[in-house]
Amino acid sequence: MLKIQNFINGELIQPNSGDYFDNSSPVTGKIYSQVSDSDETDIDNAVASAKEAFKTWSKLPKKERYDHIMRLATEIEAHFNEMVEAESKDNGKPEWLARAVDIPRASENFRFFATASLHFDSEIHEMDGKALNYTLRQPVGVVGCISPWNLPLYLLTWKIAPALAAGNTVVAKPSEVTPMTAFMFSEICKKINFPKGVINVVHGFGHKVGDALSKHPDVPIISFTGGTATGEKIAAVATPMFKKISLELGGKNPNIVFEDAEFNKSVDMAVKAAFSNQGQICLCGSRLFVQNSIYEKFRDSFVEKTKSLKVGNPKNDDSNLGAVVSKQHMEKILECIELAKSEGGEILTGGKRLILDGDLSGGYYIEPTIIENLSHSCRTNQEEIFGPVVSIIPFANESEVIEMANSTKYGLSASIFTKDVSKAHRVAAAIDSGIVWVNTWMLRDLRIPFGGMKSSGVGREGGFKSLEFFTEPKNVCIKI
Ligand code: NDP
Repeated sequence: MLKIQNFINGELIQPNSGDYFDNSSPVTGKIYSQVSDSDETDIDNAVASAKEAFKTWSKLPKKERYDHIMRLATEIEAHFNEMVEAESKDNGKPEWLARAVDIPRASENFRFFATASLHFDSEIHEMDGKALNYTLRQPVGVVGCISPWNLPLYLLTWKIAPALAAGNTVVAKPSEVTPMTAFMFSEICKKINFPKGVINVVHGFGHKVGDALSKHPDVPIISFTGGTATGEKIAAVATPMFKKISLELGGKNPNIVFEDAEFNKSVDMAVKAAFSNQGQICLCGSRLFVQNSIYEKFRDSFVEKTKSLKVGNPKNDDSNLGAVVSKQHMEKILECIELAKSEGGEILTGGKRLILDGDLSGGYYIEPTIIENLSHSCRTNQEEIFGPVVSIIPFANESEVIEMANSTKYGLSASIFTKDVSKAHRVAAAIDSGIVWVNTWMLRDLRIPFGGMKSSGVGREGGFKSLEFFTEPKNVCIKI
C-alpha cells in the first residue's frame, strides 16, 4: 500500500519511528494509503534542514526566488488531473469542485505571491532634511505552516507561497486527515530539484507534530488555519515565546437577505453558501436570516432548490455534493443535527446519512439539511458545525438582524443581499466580521486582507498583507 512519507532536506523519507497509520477515502470508507506517524524528532530534522537552507534562500535575488516558485506552479498544472482525482479521493469533494477551485488555486497561489514579491516595497520617512528613515523588510526565518483538511492543497499553498516569496524557508504540517496532495506536492519538489531544505513537509497527528512545530525554538513564525480550539492551543504555546502568529479560525457566518433583495439570485447564493464543499468551508453561510415579509416564500424556494441537489459519486459532474471528510466528522455533524432537534429545531429537508450504492455504500454522505424554528442564541446557531447544515431564521428589521448576526463568538465573514446601496453600506459597517460580501458570496480577490475578528482569528493574510506578515520590518535611521 502507498506510504505517504515525509519530505525533509529534499528527500522523501520514513518517519523516525518507522510507524504509519491508515488513511481512508471518505468516498468509500476504505483504507487506501498509510501516513507517516511522525514525532518531534522528525520536526527537529525538518527545522534543522530549513534553518540551514534559509542561509542561502533568504539571500537569493528576488528574481531567482521568483523563477524557482513559478516552476512549482507550472508543475502543479502539469499534474493537474492526478491532483484533482487525489484531492477528491482524500477529501470526498466532487472532482468538478477540485478541478474548478482547489487545484487551480494551488498553482495560482504560487504565481500570485511570486509576482507580488517583485512588486513589494517598503516605506521611507524623511525628517525635514535632518534624517532619513527607511524600513527594510527582511525574511523572518523558518515558518511553521499548519493547515486543515477542507481545502487541503489550496490552503497549504496559501501559506507556503508567500512564506517562500518573502525569503523564508518552510516546515509544513498538512492535516493528517487529507495528506495526499501535500505528499504529491513534495514529490513535485523532489522531481524538479527544488532547492533542498527550503520546503519540508512532515506528516502526522496535530497533537504530536503540530504541537512540536508550534513550540520549536527555531521556528519564530507560525501561520495556522484550522479550528478555533486548536488555534487557542497554538497561541498558548507560541505567544509566550513571542512568535509571530497568524490564525485563520472558524466561522458561523450570517447570510442576510432583505425583502428588497433580488429574489432568485439570493436564493441561489444562499444554497451555494450553505452547501458548497459539503458545507465545509470556513466562509459558509450557515445562519440564513430572511426578512419577515418574504420569509415564507424564500424558505419554500430555498427548500425546493436544496431538495434538487444531488449527493452522489464525487467522480460525476452532476453530483452537487460528495462525501464529508471522515467517519468521525460525519458522526459529529449527525450529532449536531440531533442537538438541533432537541433544541426544538424542525428539519425542513435532509437530516440523515445517505447510503449510496455499491462501492460507495461505506462512504460518508449526508443529505443537505435545513433547520427552522430555532432561536438565534441556541447552541445550533452559536457553534460551528462545518457540514451541510444551515439554519433559517426570520427577522423584522435592520437593527434586529445586526444584533442576531453579531451574537456569536465568531466574526469571519458575512453576506448581505439588498438592492438598497445605503443599507448595504450601513449593515456592512455594523457587522462584526473580517469580510463582508454584498449580493454575492465567496468572491475572492487574492489581494484583499483576509481573516477574521473575535474568535475567528488573529491577523490578516492575502496580497501584501501576507508579505508583511512573513517579513520583519526593520527601520534604519540615517542622520544627514
Ligand atoms: P483542526 O484545528 O482540527 O486542524 C487544523 C490543523 O491543525 C491540522 O493540520 C491539525 O492536524 C493541526 N493540529 C491539531 N492539533 C494541533 C496542535 N495541538 N498543535 C498544532 N497543530 C495541531 O481543524 P480542521 O482540520 O478540523 O479544519 C476545520 C476547521 O478549520 C474549521 O473550524 C474551519 O472553520 C477552520 N478553517 C478556517 C479557515 C479560515 O481561513 N479562517 C479556512 C478553512 C478552515 P491533524 O489534522 O493531524 O489533527
